[in-house]
Amino acid sequence: MKMPGLVKGLAVTLGTMGRRSVTQQYPDVKPELPPRSRGVIALLEENCTVCMLCARECPDWCIYIDSHKETIPATTEGGRERQRNVLDRFAIDFSLCMYCGICIEVCPFDALHWSPEFEYAELDIRELTHEKDRLREWMWTVPAPPALDVHAEPAKEITAAEKAAERARTARGGTA
Ligand code: SF4
Ligand code: SF4
Repeated sequence: MKMPGLVKGLAVTLGTMGRRSVTQQYPDVKPELPPRSRGVIALLEENCTVCMLCARECPDWCIYIDSHKETIPATTEGGRERQRNVLDRFAIDFSLCMYCGICIEVCPFDALHWSPEFEYAELDIRELTHEKDRLREWMWTVPAPPALDVHAEPAKEITAAEKAAERARTARGGTA
């Protein structure tokens, strides 16, 4: 015999009435998220060399970077002046971002990191584009890297010459 819809509904209600509630009273009760949750992308501005790799690889084109060149005077007499990129704007539009993490993976200078922070909802979608100052603030919520495996090789000190070589390689488009 087919059970009428109302009786079926009441049966479900009665069946669940005795069970313990699993509802969390957010925001009074914060959810317990895994420490490596993909909440938001944080920027360590000091590490960014404006190489543009993240913006180029982002599938959603939601990273906006502006910069200008600055001339660094020669440090020795007869030496050559050098130029470096200065970051003017770094913004991510989180209304477009799909949290794929490609930008974090491709950054050669560890300037981008996942933060578990997730409380940045806005009423206006246009407010979801966050600029470098806000992205920098989220760096304080990035968990420390996990300890190295006991069998791993000890971390190697990177010399200034190696860093310069890596920068030059990135500027050439990642070719060796
Ligand atoms: S997580 Fe993916 S979609 Fe979001 S900014 Fe990075 S590359 Fe773009
Ligand atoms: S890939 Fe890293 S260093 Fe290059 S522009 Fe993006 S954040 Fe800056």
